[in-house]
Amino acid sequence: MSAVLLDGKVAAAVVRERVRASVDLLRAGGVVPGLAVVLVGEDPASQVYVRNKDKAAQEAGFEVRTVRLPATTAQSDLAGVVRGLNDDRRVHGVLVQLPLPKGLDASGIVDALDPRKDVDGLHPANVAALAMGREGLRPCTPLGCLEILDQHGIELAGAHAVVIGRSMLVGKPLALLLLERNSTVTVCHSRSRDLPGIARTADVLFAAVGRARMVRGDWIREGAAVVDVGINRLPDGKLAGDVDFEPARERAGAITPVPGGIGPMTIAMLLANTALAAERIEDRRPLVQDTRRATR
Ligand code: NAP
Repeated sequence: MSAVLLDGKVAAAVVRERVRASVDLLRAGGVVPGLAVVLVGEDPASQVYVRNKDKAAQEAGFEVRTVRLPATTAQSDLAGVVRGLNDDRRVHGVLVQLPLPKGLDASGIVDALDPRKDVDGLHPANVAALAMGREGLRPCTPLGCLEILDQHGIELAGAHAVVIGRSMLVGKPLALLLLERNSTVTVCHSRSRDLPGIARTADVLFAAVGRARMVRGDWIREGAAVVDVGINRLPDGKLAGDVDFEPARERAGAITPVPGGIGPMTIAMLLANTALAAERIEDRRPLVQDTRRATR
């Protein structure tokens, strides 16, 4: 059997269409939704990410402001920039590109964000809102994982979801979102015993580890859905996911590729979050749904 390919570019285009409709409606009502992206330092990967986000947001109709600061920026100055964006009524979403250069404390900067503009969903108020099932902004990558499964009609309610990885960025929020969607959730990490055995019990397996091709084909239960969040640069310069794609594809029922899977979904969900933030701040009826669909 060869798995259905869960194409992130196609699924992201569907999300972008929804965002476009939402942005058009906001603009028709006199609101130009704005996204500010803050980039500190010269990290090449971060520069590429910021350029991609900037372009996608402009294409979706947002007014985009990119704030570039030198790596030598002081913590208090960076916090000051963030507070300035919090107070700017033309800005509805603020994203500080992580990681920050050495010497800057990312959590202090994230804490300085207005939670209503925290389109990465990393502010403690948004983390708490997710844990408590309250309204807030959810992290983009986990949202993208659920969105692509939803678009393919892959059932999460009652399914055993296994998440490998427990980071604040991916694994933990993903586990909470899956609970919200009534999955039975197992979270694994570097100290988990018998990872292959646990993975084989998954109806839906998520890999968010950062180790190229760690998840082998024989870890996959026949017919399971596999979502590969990992982005790893191989010595030959090519990208690989955390899942050994070809053998996994032979056993899975559905699988995301790398590249072209969760990467594009993450950017699409950033746009969706920015539209949602603008709708809420401007007190408009949300067109872009948050993922708390009526599943209970
Ligand atoms: P992270 O903060 O480094 O977390 C990695 C997690 O994997 C940790 O919880 C760690 O466990 C676990 N882990 C490490 N080695 C393991 C092993 N041998 N067995 C089981 N678990 C292990 O990484 P992250 O930020 O979550 O990112 C994970 C991957 O996703 C990276 O490749 C990253 O580039 C990618 N990513 C992609 C997107 C996208 O848009 N597609 C977005 C974000 C991240 P411990 O907690 O025990 O250390």
